[in-house]
Amino acid sequence: MRLTLEETLAILQESGKVIITSHVNPDGDALGSCLALAHYLKDRGKDVSVLIDDEVPKGFLVLPGAEKITAPGENEHYLADLLVVLDASLDRIGKVGEAVSAPVVNIDHHPTNDGKAERLYLDGERAATAEIIYQLLELAGGEFDKDIAMALYTGLATDTGFFRFSNTNPLTMRAAARMLEAGAEPHVISESLEQRPYSHVKGLADALQHIEVWHGGRAAGAFLSYETMEGIEATDGLIEMLRVIEGVEIAVVMKYKEEGKARVSMRSKGADVSAVALQFGGGGHVKAAGCGIEKPFEEARAMLQAAIDAALAPTDPVAGDAGSAGEEK
Ligand code: 5GP
Ligand code: MN
Repeated sequence: MRLTLEETLAILQESGKVIITSHVNPDGDALGSCLALAHYLKDRGKDVSVLIDDEVPKGFLVLPGAEKITAPGENEHYLADLLVVLDASLDRIGKVGEAVSAPVVNIDHHPTNDGKAERLYLDGERAATAEIIYQLLELAGGEFDKDIAMALYTGLATDTGFFRFSNTNPLTMRAAARMLEAGAEPHVISESLEQRPYSHVKGLADALQHIEVWHGGRAAGAFLSYETMEGIEATDGLIEMLRVIEGVEIAVVMKYKEEGKARVSMRSKGADVSAVALQFGGGGHVKAAGCGIEKPFEEARAMLQAAIDAALAPTDPVAGDAGSAGEEK
């Protein structure tokens, strides 16, 4: 059932014990949305915990309450009045789904949300799930303290590339301004998120040795096998380096942290990479999407490159009619 914002707020307000979760490999929007909603509900006397089946990246520990986020324990079972799943469909929350017994409400901004939650608030027009949480809290009376402001600002900023991507809209800016009034400190957040160990920067340099372009320079990728990844600690920032190459419309990073299991990130300037990700059971947005592929390196790489070729094909220059097809922005 698709909920309205009012119905979603009512469900949150009537629940006493609430568990909030988001996707594995949590990003700023996942964590910021969870923490903001947790602070709001706690301030209203509810028993709230944030349970995420993954580690919280160190940079996010600057957010109040991030240190209390836990992963579900082995064989542990949790009972609650409500499980709130933010910024993802239920298939991306790892072990939390089985570990928690509670009715579910799903709040998301991914157009590729699988719609399987019994109760779903989905708005694909919102830049971030944090923007939806902002709308919910506005509807609830618009009280924002510093803890909420730091969390929501982080979600808004990270999902819009710090207010640079095309999803940035007037509501994003209004919400961000409101968060600054409520005490968010943008420089504290961005400085914390920028910090990385020396080994990660070296790893990025190593990964950059593997970049390539194809499809007449319109696609760029780094395909990193398990063997290659053994010498690379992190690839943060790699997709951004590919995305900025002149003429590149689709950028992709495919990497194996586990043998036989590729993780794929894609970015685009117009072509629909969420459609590519969906072909492999993933999802995301038109211009930023991802998926996992459980195939050996060469096979996964060939499938992915073929799917990207097909995504670019509708706008390939046709002989004698070059450039007639316009790209959706
Ligand atoms: P990133 O490349 O930053 O990990 O992800 C880009 C976008 O794609 C995000 O909106 C993220 O939620 C989505 N995404 C990444 N991986 C997956 C996946 O395996 N499944 C789904 N459904 N979405 C994904
Ligand atoms: Mn998001």
